[in-house]
Amino acid sequence: MTEAQVETKQFQAETRKVLDIVINSLYTERDIFVRELVSNAADALEKYRHQSLVEQAEFDAHVPLEINIDCDDKKKTLTITDTGIGMTKEELETNLGTIAHSGSSRFFEELAEAVKKDVSLIGQFGVGFYSVFMAAKKVTVQTRSWDGSEGHEWISDGGGTYTVSPCEGLHRGTKIIIDLKEDAETYATKFTVEHIIKQYSTFVPFPVKVEGTTVNTVQAIWSRSKSEITEEEYTEFYKFIGNAADEPMYRLHFSADAPLAINALVYVPKDNFEVAGMGRMQPGVNLYCQKVLIDQHSENILPEWLRFLKGVVDSEDLPLNISRQSLQDNALVYKLRKVLTKRFIKFLNEQAKKDAEGYQQFWKTFGIFIKEGVTSDFEFRDDLGKLLRFESSGSEAGEMVSLDDYIARMKDGQDKIYFINGPSRAAVENGPYVEMFKKRGIEIFYTLEPIDDFVLNHLGEYDGKKLVSADTADIRLPESTEDTSSTEDKEQGEALPADQVEALCKWIKERLGDRVQDVKSSTRLVDSPAMIVNVDGFMTSSMERIMQASGQEGGLGAMHSKKDMEINGSSSLIKKLASLKDADPDFAGIIVDQVYDNALIQAGLVIDPMEMVSRNYRILERAAGEES
Ligand code: ADP
Ligand code: MG
Repeated sequence: MTEAQVETKQFQAETRKVLDIVINSLYTERDIFVRELVSNAADALEKYRHQSLVEQAEFDAHVPLEINIDCDDKKKTLTITDTGIGMTKEELETNLGTIAHSGSSRFFEELAEAVKKDVSLIGQFGVGFYSVFMAAKKVTVQTRSWDGSEGHEWISDGGGTYTVSPCEGLHRGTKIIIDLKEDAETYATKFTVEHIIKQYSTFVPFPVKVEGTTVNTVQAIWSRSKSEITEEEYTEFYKFIGNAADEPMYRLHFSADAPLAINALVYVPKDNFEVAGMGRMQPGVNLYCQKVLIDQHSENILPEWLRFLKGVVDSEDLPLNISRQSLQDNALVYKLRKVLTKRFIKFLNEQAKKDAEGYQQFWKTFGIFIKEGVTSDFEFRDDLGKLLRFESSGSEAGEMVSLDDYIARMKDGQDKIYFINGPSRAAVENGPYVEMFKKRGIEIFYTLEPIDDFVLNHLGEYDGKKLVSADTADIRLPESTEDTSSTEDKEQGEALPADQVEALCKWIKERLGDRVQDVKSSTRLVDSPAMIVNVDGFMTSSMERIMQASGQEGGLGAMHSKKDMEINGSSSLIKKLASLKDADPDFAGIIVDQVYDNALIQAGLVIDPMEMVSRNYRILERAAGEES
């Protein structure tokens, strides 16, 4: 090779940042670089295996699929060789010089934060290769693509540059030679490396040989019978497939022959990484056909909202030589997806029945994905309704109720399911919307997350019963048989006669003008003087609040639903207001403004606080004056 053929190249700026992070991270879990390199080797073998089925391979077709690891404790090197798909010169420079998912600065913030805490998370960011520089002085990558094109050698010390040059005499695949740092020489001993492979790479689906001896058992765990698999094996496989350190929350291992041949082993992790600030997860389930990996992190095999699952799906019915692109609109894949999703939903329902507390934990951690499913996936919307949980007036604080529980407790004559949104249970329980529900003993869901009203509106109805927000106008609640109203009504005294309420409503409407569509006498307020209700059934106050918060001027933020104010003719304030409007219309008007603002606040809607405060002082001044 002549000097001219050796090209020196700069790492992309982002790659340099990653290298900095790796080199400066704590080395408590340095071992994981072996896992990352072996996992890359396994990926390369999987890719070759699949590729050779899609397209007949010519070059080195006889070379067995395996990973060889050699230690040289004199030269202090560790060498990992695979007979996988290899890399062309272009691939070498793209894959080991740049970062695929770069571009956003958040990516690096999250990467830096995660890796500083736990280096073993590096693989989840798609930059596992660079972990080799925790242990390496110098790394040499010799690689030749499966297409038989010229082989190349890549060398770097993890500084700002690397070199690439042609390399003769290579077989298909990749050889990585690591010159170990002085404090990392242990990786040149067979004992250490064997130990690491056994710990992390037992489930690599190809022989992994250390100094010529195979150290892993090559078997697809998902195709074995359940009774032969130990708990430990299941957990180890989860850690392997999910790149995880924790233990799974749930596991579903199932096989079916009809309508499709399926072997699936999927896990629910313990934690939700999207909440932990790691950004949007990529799907965690890999698609196999007859134990050949066809689609890693498959976007097709499960709906997006199941991206938190980790595991494997294997179907013999898929054509082995199917290409990744054609999976997208493949009818069989679609069918598989449907069967799997239904089966998983059924599994969750079974778990909820078996262990309600365990399911609550699942709901707390992953409920947000189920809610996403309801709002985004029409196909499974009705099935997902069964999985929803909310607090309700029929539950203790923190205890969750299902729609089925609710329906089982519905009153005679009740044909709707009611819910009300609020920032907390206490806020909801002290608000005007639940008063009549409490009085008549009708259960009502408390939707305490902002997204909940969107979810229930998307669902629309459940088991033939409409889902209705309690801040909707014209709600007629069934009469109660054990109505306690007669005694309670007395506390507030006689209600204002209907014609007087009518007149007061008219007068208030004039005062409020366009601020409300109408003012009506309420049939469901018990203690509160007034409340705001939404006339358009599809929009709740909570949804309006979110849109106002997220929208800009003139956009969604300017969207208001039509509102009525309902007043309570039994409330002593309303009764006094009825007289005051004739005696002192100016001051009565000020009170109306305040009652209106109070009702908006109870609906969680925005008011003008400055105006409200100055008005409030005027009212207080008058109250103080009367006292003296
Ligand atoms: P990831 O494996 O998540 O893609 P890595 O940083 O581990 O990220 O590897 C980067 C890329 O380098 C891989 O996607 C692959 O294309 C390429 N690569 C790494 N090791 C090998 C190998 N042994 N054979 C072929 N390609 C490899
Ligand atoms: Mg990798």
